[in-house]
Amino acid sequence: MSELEELHQRIASCTDCDLCRNRTHAVPGEGPPNAELLFVGEGPGFYEDQQARPFVGPAGRFLEELLASIGLQRDQVFIANVVKCRPPNNRDPLPGEIESCRKYLQQQIELIQPKVIISLGRYSLAWFFPRDTISKVHGQTKVKDGIYFMPMYHPAAALHAGNMRSVIEEDFKKIPAVLKRAREAPPAQAAPVPEPEQMRLF
Ligand code: SF4
Repeated sequence: MSELEELHQRIASCTDCDLCRNRTHAVPGEGPPNAELLFVGEGPGFYEDQQARPFVGPAGRFLEELLASIGLQRDQVFIANVVKCRPPNNRDPLPGEIESCRKYLQQQIELIQPKVIISLGRYSLAWFFPRDTISKVHGQTKVKDGIYFMPMYHPAAALHAGNMRSVIEEDFKKIPAVLKRAREAPPAQAAPVPEPEQMRLF
């Protein structure tokens, strides 16, 4: 069993915060263990909790559409969340729950070593960049700890506010250029990322 699989087994039986009490399943995340792109959402919802898989409800379908728009399928990227267990009634995760779960996402990043991390939503943005505001930094390229980042709104936001859909779609178009830059230039030498363009990633 790989280290990542062992980690996911520990997550599946974790009782380190109260979110374990109401979950059906913990949702560690899924994707290739060496994925170049890591998407980080906030936490599992109803369908994710039922199926033990991330982004399988309506927001997940929109994420799959977004991935297809840049020539990707979901099994080519790793998808995870800040907290691995569903907050009751889909409430926001509490600061203590996020801190209890922090070690797991940290270890996933260390094991997967993605080239680009795409944070989805404000809780995911705050996990990496606590001082930033999503309305100001979405769609911008950032660098931290040797990794490129692209903060975005959560796909679920498009389900509630129609005008958000085009904002997310436009931000998504920038991912191929960021990945190309990450492949070519170590983040320590990060240069401005060129304007979005259509390019094949794989
Ligand atoms: S949310 Fe994270 S810390 Fe809390 S029980 Fe689930 S896996 Fe453990």
